[in-house]
Amino acid sequence: MNRYSALLLAGALACAPQHAQVLTPVRIDTSGAIVVVDTSSLGQPRTSRVTLNEAEFASLSGRTTADDPLARIDRMDWPGPNAYRAASGMPGPQYWQQRADYTITATLDTTAQRVSGSVTIRYTNNSPDTLRFVWLQLDQNLYKPGSKGSALFPADSRWGVRGFQGGFELSGVQVNGRSATVRVDDTMGRIDLDQPIVPAGGKATISMSFAFRVPEHGSDRMGRDGTLYEIAQWYPRMAVYDDIRGWNTDPYFGQGEFYLEYGDFDVSITAPAGYTIAASGVLQNPTEVLSAAERERLARAAKSDSVIAVITRAEAVATPTPGTKTWRFHAENVRDVAWAGAPDFRWDAVNADGVLAQAYYQQAKAGAAWEQAAEQTAWTIRNFSELFANYPYPQATSVAGPVGGMEYPMFVMVHYGNEAGDPKSIFGTINHEHGHEWFPMVVGSNERRYAWMDEGFNTYIDAFALDRRYPGTNTWPSYVANWKATVDAGIDTPLMTPPDRIDARALGAIGYRKPGAVLLALRNNVVGKETFDRAFREYVRRWSYKHPSPADFFRTVENVSGMDLGWYWTAFFYGTGRLDIGIDNVMMRQQEGQNYAVVTLRRNSAVPFPVHLRLRFADASTQDVELPVEIWSKGDRHEAVIAVKAPVVGVRLWPEGVVPDWNATNDIWGTPPAASANGSATTGGLSGEIGGRATP
Ligand SMILES: [Zn+2]
Repeated sequence: MNRYSALLLAGALACAPQHAQVLTPVRIDTSGAIVVVDTSSLGQPRTSRVTLNEAEFASLSGRTTADDPLARIDRMDWPGPNAYRAASGMPGPQYWQQRADYTITATLDTTAQRVSGSVTIRYTNNSPDTLRFVWLQLDQNLYKPGSKGSALFPADSRWGVRGFQGGFELSGVQVNGRSATVRVDDTMGRIDLDQPIVPAGGKATISMSFAFRVPEHGSDRMGRDGTLYEIAQWYPRMAVYDDIRGWNTDPYFGQGEFYLEYGDFDVSITAPAGYTIAASGVLQNPTEVLSAAERERLARAAKSDSVIAVITRAEAVATPTPGTKTWRFHAENVRDVAWAGAPDFRWDAVNADGVLAQAYYQQAKAGAAWEQAAEQTAWTIRNFSELFANYPYPQATSVAGPVGGMEYPMFVMVHYGNEAGDPKSIFGTINHEHGHEWFPMVVGSNERRYAWMDEGFNTYIDAFALDRRYPGTNTWPSYVANWKATVDAGIDTPLMTPPDRIDARALGAIGYRKPGAVLLALRNNVVGKETFDRAFREYVRRWSYKHPSPADFFRTVENVSGMDLGWYWTAFFYGTGRLDIGIDNVMMRQQEGQNYAVVTLRRNSAVPFPVHLRLRFADASTQDVELPVEIWSKGDRHEAVIAVKAPVVGVRLWPEGVVPDWNATNDIWGTPPAASANGSATTGGLSGEIGGRATP
């Protein structure tokens, strides 16, 4: 999803109280069973497995974290570790996940504005559990009158349904060839099975017919604009069954995104004969749907470093054509498929290191900016491949349309260009949406619960891409400013807040920019650039095509860096902590001929942080001092006694910047030295800059 339209009305609630809000870590991922050491009654520690309710969790966690800023987040608070998820943050020796392979046949009726078809799901139960029922995701039911999402989000909002009435019509439901029933509950549906699916490889084939009217505004994730159709959330999809929550049945409200199983897809789309269809996957029948000229241009584009028009500007004209055509696509190791169709697409394509980068757009609406879209798509695929991990799919498609920005495997929807036709007006979104091919398309986290694991990680990697595309671009100030605006408005929430429960005005900050800033600060100031880059790539390598939980990321960073970062996760992920460390006072002391500067530091909030000081002497020379975060373990005041060559005349905290210190006024003392003129938070790029290949 794109972030530009998640508006924040700064100042609207400027007087609201600003108490730090702490989400207890434990409730996110566990079933409620934790081990508690009870010393109260017997005098001897006694370990027992008990189940606590949410309030008890909150009070327990509140006691443990509120008093100690360096409180550990250890196995008391995190799920596992167990045979499925290792203490080191890697998948455990018995890690499993389900598999769902799909065959979908659908028809686009542009007169009735309907999509109808059938889906066959070949479901494989790799879990150790016997499944007597399965859950499906029925996203189109968001558009049924009275849906939960329509009650939560105003009809005219970005996620609202705009008064549209639609929803899935399901029929002919079968499991293994025998008639079955879907018990629909809003956007979820349960099928009770006559025959259970046995553990460790048991299979079931689930099939049904489906149809729905295409909403014009599909919550900014799909929709139509005149003759153009952008189709997603369009077939019944398996809910994820995992080792963390069992069936993940969080409904689709519109604002929270998706959590999906991996599999292979065969998709056939029948559309009016004059339409061109773009989709996830690789076109299987070009001889049936493309002209000889288009096929020749496409073959040339696959080897060309300059953009080739597959459908030229002159050819991109809607021409009434009788009958229909069926387009067939195949996609492997993906969690979803989406598609778009129009009778007058321009279609550009270019080679991006073996990946076919494509752009489809209606000239009149998309504007001249989109003539650069294929090149931008190729650039972004090539650059993210170099920075983080190789793009694993054979093609990457950008489609212009009414959807502001939405991502699917190998396929993204991006808004139209501006009136001036400025290529920069679409680059940020094209870059961001394709960044999602890494998070969550390859690293398959649960977007409906943790926006920071896809939007946040994506916003973090976007910072490096933007600095590469437009050298000197520094995203840090805007990320922090957006975070600060939510604080000023009283709508800051912990990053762990499920996106559906984030104030819609704060989604751009909490889902995207605050995690982007928090990760940049962690990298540049706490873990160190080279080590963090190594840890981040290791997380991608470990969890490609899998379902990582927050703890898997935290544990991976801690294991690669060798640091206990519980305090960081507590302050910035589980809480709404704000950093404010300042210089209280500086005094000089002399002992046995040696000068010492005694710098008194004060921590004005609960958040600790390693300290970086730059001291200035009368001759304008400087000395840098690093102090570990542990200086804050005993309280909110620290006296740093520093051997110096001469009396200190000024001090500056955080001379390298990229520290989210909320109060700059107490960060300097005396005649401070200058801060480093180091450009941006991403200056120097990533260390290595060679992604490890993410293989299926
Ligand atoms: Zn996004």
